[in-house]
Amino acid sequence: MAKILVIGGSLGGLFAANILLREGHDVTLLEKAIGSLDGRGAGIVTHDALADALSEAGIQVDNSLGVAVSKRVTLGIDGENLGEMQLPQILTSWSRLYHLLKENFPNERYLQGKNVKVVTQDSNSVQVSCEDGSTYQAELLIASDGIRSTVRSQVAPNIQPKYAGYIAWRGVCDESNLSNYTLETLFNYFGFCLPNGEQMLGYPVAGPGNDTRPGKRRYNFVWYRPASEEDELVKLLTDADGHYYPTGIPPLKVSWKHIAEMRTVARDILAPQYAEILEKTPSPFLQTIYDVCSEQIVFGRIALMGDAAFVGRPHVGMGVTKAGDEAMAIARHIATLGPTPEALEAYSKERLKLGQQVVARAQYLGRYMQAQGSKGSRDSNSLRRNADTVMAETAIDISTLLVAGKAVPESH
Ligand SMILES: Cc1cc2nc3c(=O)[nH]c(=O)nc-3n(C[C@H](O)[C@H](O)[C@H](O)COP(=O)(O)OP(=O)(O)OC[C@H]3O[C@@H](n4cnc5c(N)ncnc54)[C@H](O)[C@@H]3O)c2cc1C
Repeated sequence: MAKILVIGGSLGGLFAANILLREGHDVTLLEKAIGSLDGRGAGIVTHDALADALSEAGIQVDNSLGVAVSKRVTLGIDGENLGEMQLPQILTSWSRLYHLLKENFPNERYLQGKNVKVVTQDSNSVQVSCEDGSTYQAELLIASDGIRSTVRSQVAPNIQPKYAGYIAWRGVCDESNLSNYTLETLFNYFGFCLPNGEQMLGYPVAGPGNDTRPGKRRYNFVWYRPASEEDELVKLLTDADGHYYPTGIPPLKVSWKHIAEMRTVARDILAPQYAEILEKTPSPFLQTIYDVCSEQIVFGRIALMGDAAFVGRPHVGMGVTKAGDEAMAIARHIATLGPTPEALEAYSKERLKLGQQVVARAQYLGRYMQAQGSKGSRDSNSLRRNADTVMAETAIDISTLLVAGKAVPESH
């Protein structure tokens, strides 16, 4: 049994902590936030590997994990169906996964209000100091402290998030508020709409209390829109009182003026079904889209995982599944090689290139979306071709492509 510290109590950290605890290790998780992280999360696409990671964490997955869809559709600006594709998937929510993983992990091992400030190591152990003055020691440290990882900033300060040039408007809208037209033509599908240089997508997720009954569900949307870094992005990350949040604006601080502007544009350039959804979503929020691509994820007794290691833009729909995969790999190598730097090196050997490929795949999907604005034609044949490609490539299971090293088509 090894003493292991996990930094970060979101989904990545909870996957690692649950799996390592089940392997018999003495696991302590340090999370800087106090109280539940819930309330910000939206939809998550599931893949087979996510069910595997949940199962290794000791959580049995059944139909209540999410909402099943059978096909994808792309809508034109008049709401017409531009194309469709059969692709059964289960769509869940961040909140659902968070509760499953959090409730499965002992409270006394999940320490809140622990803002990790300094991490050091010697040949036998890792030491951690938190802002509140508390200190911890362990044989290994697993850092799943997110895109702006404090641990990464100490062991690899050169690895920084890079702005992708666009943001996403996100949110969830109650099914019960939508018109029959939107319910019949969009709600039950993984849907897309492709205005010039932009991309809207959405899918149904469970409603409050994880209710998946018809009438009680919600529609989750992600609308990618270009925003210049110096000008538009700064404006969007500034609240109605003029306060600027450079690393991400809290959902309820997004200015009502920007929400109003966004809804006006939606009426002009999106299918009316999506415009209705945006109109009826109470608190749309903003996500700045970044890439994080680490060249090294293991530093002696410290391993980076989850968003601390790699952030692929959400087009791949893989952030949570990737974190689950990484947690399983870490646990597997510790089981074979013990709580040693060698075990973490074996994890790095298995996962470094895969993580880099996920980021490359996400950049490829993002480039394609952006290219429509500058190069793509808007004639209906070209729109249909775009729709077919986007539906076939977005948020699909790419595990076999990753293993084959073909996450990005050779022509790119
Ligand atoms: C509240 C929340 C809501 C989310 N909602 C969605 C969603 O709807 N859809 C989606 O695709 N993805 C969402 N994500 C991102 C998704 O959770 C991640 O892509 C995935 O879990 C893998 O990242 P992670 O767990 O490693 O990092 P993250 O999810 O970013 O979590 C990092 C955790 O580390 C903690 N932390 C950061 N710094 C420190 C420190 N110095 N000391 C201690 N703790 C620290 C943070 O408070 C956070 O809990 C959300 C993340 C959060 C935190």
